[in-house]
Amino acid sequence: MSDIYLTNTLSRKKEKFEPINPPRVGMYTCGPTVYDFSTIGNFRTYIAADTLLRVLKYNGFEVTYIMNITDVGHLTGDNLGDADLGEDRMEKSAQAQGKSAWEIAKYYTEVFLKDFEKLNLTKPNVFSKATDHIKEQIDLVSGLEKVGFAYKISDGIYFDTVAFEKKTGKKYGELSTLDIIKEGARVEPNPEKKNPRDFAIWKFSPSAGSGLPKRQMEWDSPWGLGFPGWHLECSAMSMKYLGESFDIHCGGEDLRQTHHPNEIAQSEGVSGKTFVKYWVHATFLQVDGKRMGKSLGNVYTVSDIERKGFDPLALRYLYLTSYYRDTLNFTWESLTSSQNALNKLRSQLLALRESRKRTVLSREKEKKMEEFRAAFTTAVNDDLNTPRALAVMWDMFKSNIPAEDKYDLAISFDDVLGLSLGRISSFQFPISKEIKELVGERERLRKEGKFEEADKIRVKIEKTGYALEDQPEGTRIKKA
Ligand code: AMP
Ligand code: ZN
Repeated sequence: MSDIYLTNTLSRKKEKFEPINPPRVGMYTCGPTVYDFSTIGNFRTYIAADTLLRVLKYNGFEVTYIMNITDVGHLTGDNLGDADLGEDRMEKSAQAQGKSAWEIAKYYTEVFLKDFEKLNLTKPNVFSKATDHIKEQIDLVSGLEKVGFAYKISDGIYFDTVAFEKKTGKKYGELSTLDIIKEGARVEPNPEKKNPRDFAIWKFSPSAGSGLPKRQMEWDSPWGLGFPGWHLECSAMSMKYLGESFDIHCGGEDLRQTHHPNEIAQSEGVSGKTFVKYWVHATFLQVDGKRMGKSLGNVYTVSDIERKGFDPLALRYLYLTSYYRDTLNFTWESLTSSQNALNKLRSQLLALRESRKRTVLSREKEKKMEEFRAAFTTAVNDDLNTPRALAVMWDMFKSNIPAEDKYDLAISFDDVLGLSLGRISSFQFPISKEIKELVGERERLRKEGKFEEADKIRVKIEKTGYALEDQPEGTRIKKA
């Protein structure tokens, strides 16, 4: 196998991937905040992380993969560039929908997990919920207090970025491109904080008599009733499952600005070790050339694309057609093209599967096969160059290697692509309900021996551009 290269946001360079303890690899991805539906934008990031996971496994690495589910502590101020201010997203959504924060978290987590499956994302070893790891988070705050990097003000316990820099000699905020993080250049809305860049690690619940509503999610701690700061969970849970130093941390590009620098500061603050070796960030998905935003009315979910008749895996195909660090612009036309490409891929594979015969590979064809395999591996190992990998697959189909080898190669490529190519059936084409009903009706008539009537239905179906094939296991529909 060729070496794997990854662009590390920390060094801003493409680096050779060398895990800390080969063949084992520890990998963590920041998951959803479950106060609302995950968008197709969120899934661009998760698909990029999943592709990386698959590439690592394809290369023989044994990966422990963790993804968190944020079900507390992510405040709305994050939208304004300040993650410590505003309302808790879970509690706000609960109020708006007349449900409890716990019900909100449960409902959106379930929907997320269903979408996750529809996109054929690999289940992590642990889906870790913030609310299941309160003790670990409290321990982390205590640890930071012990080393002198935490202090208390009226609304919570804060991380002291200046003490961290002085004592460790490390620079806070290296991942970020924001001046407010790198240089501390900002107007500070909270005058009690020692330094503008300090951030909350534990927030206090509003006290009785403050006039603010009582929180639904709150826990006892050595500092009083409260809840963890958003950045804390990822440090606590990743170190719990992967150790104080691990290999890869993924997320969307926005997280490099404050969330990930804060994770680094918290983790390295207590451990004194390098937290993560490779930081991998996916660039945001745009819709119709614009940022995705509720106010713009262009936020789509996996269910939205299904409602329009698309297969969720067409979305996965679309994401594979672009390099994860390039801006990708979603349009319904681009999704239609991807659906067509996926349909073509599936029908080619079905045809190959049917025409498979054991043939002896000539030397020349064997060499060609190896070349395709190597070209595919080189592409995906080169910072996940999936557009090139797809091109290799299409070239391979056009080549003169035997059908069975084409089929086998495509199925092995799918270990990385994740398009469920091994599970295709004729019914995976977007076939209308009417056609499916006609096929069912024809099968029933044939079983009853009414062949003439069945043939009339066949003619009717064929007029709509489909061809039927009667197999021992049932009728297959193909695009004519
Ligand atoms: P959130 O649910 O907001 O915490 O986001 C979950 C993940 O999705 C994070 O890694 C974000 O960086 C990522 N994300 C959010 N919006 C987009 C987008 N438009 N394109 C790609 N990734 C995104
Ligand atoms: Zn995180």
